[in-house]
Amino acid sequence: MAALTQSQINQLAKKLNEDYKTLLREVREELENSGNQHRIDLLNEEPGDSGDESMANALADFNLTILDRHIDGMRDIEAALQRIKNGEYGVCTDCGDDVGFPRLQAYPTAKRCIVCQ
Ligand SMILES: [Zn+2]
Repeated sequence: MAALTQSQINQLAKKLNEDYKTLLREVREELENSGNQHRIDLLNEEPGDSGDESMANALADFNLTILDRHIDGMRDIEAALQRIKNGEYGVCTDCGDDVGFPRLQAYPTAKRCIVCQ
């Protein structure tokens, strides 16, 4: 559990938040292109502002297949941020070993260590 230092976690959380914002921006562009202007209001909140409500789940309700890839990515990031919050981040969900900082730097949403993956 003590495998990651607080500054490493902060660094990875920052990257997760940046990736999330990138996905949100792309989603917003898709919605604008598809003429769903009124739905964009939903996206004007910062991640986390809506409490425990998942932005990805809200977007999934739109049933726009063009957004599926983004929604999957957002769900992965939301889950990773939740694991950070719970103090479970960086621990392999299969074997309980450390996922390892270098692997998380490459894949901040990784749930499993390289062996289990
Ligand atoms: Zn493992």
